[in-house]
Amino acid sequence: MIFSKRANQLVASATMKATLKAQNHIKNGEDIVLGSVGEPDSKPPASAKKEVINYLNSHDSKYGPAQGLPSTRKIISTWMNQLYKQNWSSENVVISPGSKFGLYSLFQILGDDNSEVIIPSPYWVSYVTLAKLSGASIQVIPCSASENYKLTAAKLKNELSKKTKALTKILLLNSPQNPTGAIYTQSELIDLAKVIATHPDLLVICDDIYNQLIFSDEPRCPHLLDVLDKEHHQRVILVHGASKSFALTGWRLGWVVASSEIINKLTDFQSQTLTCMPDFLQIALEKILQNENQYVNELKELIKTRHQRAISKLQTCPGIKLFLSQGAFYVWMEVLDKSKTSSQICDELLTQFGVALVPGSSFGCEYHLRFSVTISDTLLDKGLLRIINYFTINGNSVQIEK
Ligand code: PLP
Repeated sequence: MIFSKRANQLVASATMKATLKAQNHIKNGEDIVLGSVGEPDSKPPASAKKEVINYLNSHDSKYGPAQGLPSTRKIISTWMNQLYKQNWSSENVVISPGSKFGLYSLFQILGDDNSEVIIPSPYWVSYVTLAKLSGASIQVIPCSASENYKLTAAKLKNELSKKTKALTKILLLNSPQNPTGAIYTQSELIDLAKVIATHPDLLVICDDIYNQLIFSDEPRCPHLLDVLDKEHHQRVILVHGASKSFALTGWRLGWVVASSEIINKLTDFQSQTLTCMPDFLQIALEKILQNENQYVNELKELIKTRHQRAISKLQTCPGIKLFLSQGAFYVWMEVLDKSKTSSQICDELLTQFGVALVPGSSFGCEYHLRFSVTISDTLLDKGLLRIINYFTINGNSVQIEK
């Protein structure tokens, strides 16, 4: 079969691949701890299912507006305004099937062979493929452990100073970051904002999907919009959704918030691809955003407790250096012995020790591993013990840096 050039650039999502592989071992009767999954294991808010069932009992579901129901967009804009202290209206919102499709659509309307997407690494596994599908060129900026895996203003400035043929440049910012759980501080954002302000052709996509799931008491982590002059806000695009904060990964509820110019183009794109989001899901989302904010707080507490539990157990593990994440639900660790790739280590952890992790190479950061803490305490302890056993056998010769 001759596939399109586009299709030939496709690689399956590494996290989904790692999980599928582990699930096949489980199907064969093996005892595996699944630490590769990027979703909360908690049940979604009980009201969510009730709302869908109630709505479907009294409505037929037909085609609806490509941008999303006006009432749902209104509620999303109010919810976003409370979270970000901004002034968006329903015209600044498009509802998409998950934030991933929102990102895909954004690259489709903004990216082509005249554009460049700047992606700091480590990055979420899908960014590179999503951006490549638009034809844009990709500039990955590696961010090291000594930089806490975050993009510095100096590196951004340097990247933007390079003469390229790109007419548009798009920066992807993700905080808290998947896989590291790193959060950009207010002062780091101020420095980045200074660079962004001096490059009027630069667009910034903020992937804020984890920004409520942080280990501090704040309702969300610091944001570029908090520190960037208002005159540049039109160039900032936010991607958010219900997958992580409300544990609704399977419902595919995401949204993009941006200038109405961008939203109108996204709406045209959705009208020709998606047609519309199911109305019963949007109606349920309205109730969730209005009534379930306590749910987010409880989920946040649960994740924080589990993360602390994992970190305290792994403190004594030889052969790795832990990163102290500030949010999201992953443990990110560097493997000190560089004689094996992260993929080889994940294979050994899975097949010999019964625990599934995701290799750092999938996130553009070799010799690192990501372990999800979204499993019960019993499974968490079991998985952590297996990791410790692996490194006790394989990592003893390496000096421990903690
Ligand atoms: N962005 C990041 C950083 C993610 O980790 C994920 C999912 O793992 C997504 C976006 C996509 O989430 P969804 O499409 O479920 O909204």
